[in-house]
Amino acid sequence: MSSSNNKEAVFILGSIILGLIFGLVLYFTNNQQIAEYIKPVGDIFLKLLKMIIVPLVLSSIFMAIINLGSPEEIGSLGIRAISYYFVTTAIAVFIGLIMVNLIQPGVGVEIESIKSTLTDAQTNKFQTSAEKGLVNTVISVITDAIPTNPFKAMADMKILQIIAFSIFLGIISLMNRKIAQPLIDLMGSIEKLSMIMIDWVMKIAPFGVFALMVHVIASSGLGAIVGLSKYIITVLLGLLIHGIILLIIGSIRHKKSPLFIFKSCLPPILTAFSTSSSASTLPVTMNTVEETLGVSKKTSQFVLPLGATINMDGTALYESVAVIFIGQAYGLDLSIVNQVIIFITASLAAVGAAAIPGAGLVTMSIVLSAVGYPLEGIALILAVDRILDMFRTAVNVFGDCIGTVVVDSFLKKST
Ligand code: ASP
Repeated sequence: MSSSNNKEAVFILGSIILGLIFGLVLYFTNNQQIAEYIKPVGDIFLKLLKMIIVPLVLSSIFMAIINLGSPEEIGSLGIRAISYYFVTTAIAVFIGLIMVNLIQPGVGVEIESIKSTLTDAQTNKFQTSAEKGLVNTVISVITDAIPTNPFKAMADMKILQIIAFSIFLGIISLMNRKIAQPLIDLMGSIEKLSMIMIDWVMKIAPFGVFALMVHVIASSGLGAIVGLSKYIITVLLGLLIHGIILLIIGSIRHKKSPLFIFKSCLPPILTAFSTSSSASTLPVTMNTVEETLGVSKKTSQFVLPLGATINMDGTALYESVAVIFIGQAYGLDLSIVNQVIIFITASLAAVGAAAIPGAGLVTMSIVLSAVGYPLEGIALILAVDRILDMFRTAVNVFGDCIGTVVVDSFLKKST
């Protein structure tokens, strides 16, 4: 692992801790408005990260296809990646279900004391998502991935659509190498320049991360933490166990110590934690996986953008815990049949969740309605959702990093 990467992680971690302390001071001294003045620094950092996503995804997927060299290679890489996503997401939901059934955080909670008020906009959002249902959500993830206008897809930052277009353009370019050569050179150049941009943006990461932390902590419902402590512990323990399992898998497949893997993945993990967005973290993840984990470029170019949008272990685990928590709190049917339905729907709903803050909460309404639980149940966990989003996004991104390691190890074996 490079020492600059090491330093970067230390600085970001320092900023998270300082931001946490300062945010708490503002919260307890009732000076939340100061956080509003600091927030623009965090917004600028987020915007700079987002600014790199479109050129990076477009060029990296395209170059991955060119480097892979044949449709068969692309197919086998895709199948391996998607299999990894499904297996690890299922493990995550399973862990969530075990933890929530063992700890039973929802049994005996005082519903009225922890309930937040849902705004009309929030209620509408949850209702629309629930009405759409699981099958339609999954189908629309697939059909929406095909853009009718690739430039609009880029303008709207629809990552799956950009991926689909890049794959298509890449395959056509492979088959028409001579005509495509100028485009291949251009895309190669865009990709390299995007990486250099990330290096530059990461120089202000400590400031951005500090500002984001201060704002989240100062403006979040810390008061709700006590009433929901058992629920928070259940989610965090589940995420920790899943993180350890991922670490072991990564360590075995990469033949490196767990400590090396963890340290190498720290910059994206910490960025995910402070931004609560897998998509915004994607440029950092790509940079790290290639530079410090030594994963081959063609794997990370292909697997990471896909993983950032559809592989969400932390979100899936979180949704299963949250739904059973609501069921326990309201004293609803927690039969095996319902738990199996939650297992399936939570695994798939996470695929439909966008890689942005709070997206897991919206797709959770699909899981709730699949077992007939009331959507108002979301009001019970709303107050601490933003804090838990940080942890689940960190696990989502860690899962993407390990996915790249695993897929790459199979690729190396077969070549
Ligand atoms: N914030 C998560 C992510 O970007 C999604 C979610 O669970 O809300 O990965």
